[in-house]
Amino acid sequence: MEGYILDAYTDLRKNKIVLWLKGAKTVSVEFNYMSSLYIGGYGLEEAERRLSAINGIDLVFENVRTAPSMKSSVLLRVSSRNLSLLRRIAEGLQTSKSGSGLSLYDVDIPYEQRFMAENGIFPFAHISVRHGSEISCEESVDDISYEFPPLNTCHLGISFRESEGAVSVASATVDDETISGDEEHVLMEISRRLNASESDVIITHGGDSGKINELYSRARRLGLGSFTLGRAGGLQSTYRSKSYSSYGRVLYKPSPALLMGRIHIDAENSFLYDESGMDGLVEVSRLSLIPLQRMARVSPGTAISGMENVEAMKRRIAVPYRKNRSEDFKNAADLVVADRGGFIYTPQPGFNTDVYGVDFSSLYPSIMEKWNISVETLNCGCCRQDGIRVPELNYHFCRKYRGIVPAVVGRLISRRRRYRTVDDPAAANRSKALKWVLVTSFGYTGYRNAKFGSIECHEAINAFGREILLTASEIAGRMKFRVLHGIVDSLWLKGEGDIDEFVKSVELETGLPIDIEGRYRWIVFLNNKGNGEGSLNRYYGELENGKMKVRGIEIRRSDTPEVVRFAQRILLEKLRGSSSSDDFMRRAMEGITAVREIVRSVKQGDYPAEEMLITKRTSQRVEEYAGNSEQKKILVELGKRGITVNAGEAVRYVSGRNSSGRTAIPEHAADIGNYDASHYVSLIARSISTMLYPFGLTEKKVRLLLTHF
Ligand SMILES: [Zn+2]
Repeated sequence: MEGYILDAYTDLRKNKIVLWLKGAKTVSVEFNYMSSLYIGGYGLEEAERRLSAINGIDLVFENVRTAPSMKSSVLLRVSSRNLSLLRRIAEGLQTSKSGSGLSLYDVDIPYEQRFMAENGIFPFAHISVRHGSEISCEESVDDISYEFPPLNTCHLGISFRESEGAVSVASATVDDETISGDEEHVLMEISRRLNASESDVIITHGGDSGKINELYSRARRLGLGSFTLGRAGGLQSTYRSKSYSSYGRVLYKPSPALLMGRIHIDAENSFLYDESGMDGLVEVSRLSLIPLQRMARVSPGTAISGMENVEAMKRRIAVPYRKNRSEDFKNAADLVVADRGGFIYTPQPGFNTDVYGVDFSSLYPSIMEKWNISVETLNCGCCRQDGIRVPELNYHFCRKYRGIVPAVVGRLISRRRRYRTVDDPAAANRSKALKWVLVTSFGYTGYRNAKFGSIECHEAINAFGREILLTASEIAGRMKFRVLHGIVDSLWLKGEGDIDEFVKSVELETGLPIDIEGRYRWIVFLNNKGNGEGSLNRYYGELENGKMKVRGIEIRRSDTPEVVRFAQRILLEKLRGSSSSDDFMRRAMEGITAVREIVRSVKQGDYPAEEMLITKRTSQRVEEYAGNSEQKKILVELGKRGITVNAGEAVRYVSGRNSSGRTAIPEHAADIGNYDASHYVSLIARSISTMLYPFGLTEKKVRLLLTHF
């Protein structure tokens, strides 16, 4: 048997690892697998005594190196072929009070990931399996010119009908064809077509938000035993095995709908797919050993964490279990603004012409790689005299042992560099995916809560970063440039100097590559409305090539209603071509006149509901919100209309008005003209004031200009 690894997962009911191989035919192969976890800490003997009463596990004391210290210590290894039992033991130990002195290792690395690491295989590798279980793989994961067969991709749309509180399937679209008729026919026809077309990938919009689960539950209700979207029946049992009964509602807690033998991607729920397509997903999946169907659902940060786990497994280092790992997707600039650790040069708010934007590419990852920054290389015993010194701080990093973080990050940087020299769309997408993984690598490894990070690593990265930016600023000064603004890895320079000479000198003196982002015809740095001071990383301007660049204002935010974006876009277009500050102000006033037309339409109730939709991600369930915040009001209002929103779910609504004041109208009940016009006029006025505040145009003034004709 041979083929490309399309998917891999653990079947906890059968206690098997399942691989789906795409070859001449696409088939599944199941493997027995003995996995293990380690226990350390106080009370090991007691733990051993209690565990030895359980059948089907092996217990042995072993000398093992553990992260983060990399020191060896004696740990109890618990192994079993009964993967569900092993999992229950791990969960039991995590929650049991008597185990509080114990520490656990290797418990949150999925079995299929460990299986692939131990067998030297990875998603989309071409492998062959002989005698049922002997795996061989000729491919190297380091290859960047790998290929895989084209994937048959199908777009699936489903629409439901609701009557008397019961939901049923009304119709479906498979690619461009609509299937209608009675429910049984629609369901079986979806199944038949997916099989007939040998689909490998199914793309849905909202499949993870309950639609796929609902299809299965309807098929069960109708007794359609042979209905399936995958190549085998049912859905994968996920690690988060909580199931939510639906009681005929259309909105549910998103539990990912993972198929067997086909890959389901919910296009509304996949950052990396959205950014870098299938090529990017496959690239990151191969490197992290996270199967593609799961990779499509996790953040780039989970990918980097997966790669670090793989690197640790390769080095036979046990990885501690750590609760509360942040899933937040933050980039370095966000983190630095949050705690002011990186280089910051606050801009003077206002209008400037002829400005260069320059930035170090992947500065923080490059620092981690270059100076070997990882928790296990920090203040090592072997390099006390001649270690890598950190500027300003009394720390050093090892010169002898290559850290896990720098090894992982270094591989990504060099892959990305190689992809950038190849001129084809797949390489461009792979490079883009790697860029996102690198962007999050600081948050995951340099930050305090990271598995392979620590507060000292975080400080060291910032210290190197500040030193490099200070050096670059000094060079700018020597070369007749003035620094207008700087943050983390970027500088904005104005002056008469030669920018190419500047770049050469910086690369020579710092050893790190710097890119010219472009020359701005004009750029406006913004200020905080609270204190009027220049704000960081919030600006807009026009590059010489005509491209507008915008950061930190409403138009960039995903929760902004379309009508507000539209107003800002109109103003930006009017400002295009500004040649001086007088010219800019004249155009700004023209812009306000143009935005007046939008305001007039909004007040007349002409706007369609979809342009008014506000998106908010909730952080908790309605009963957990204290007080009477906007967020809570919306959830209460949605609750009254029979819609439950779970923590973390996004809600879309139109801001409306009823007899008791402001209210939220859920997306599906929103209708043309049914909105709170004065609220939207305020939002528009606020967004225009955001852009023109440095010129004295407060929200109040803008509102007057927009509404008094
Ligand atoms: Zn050392």
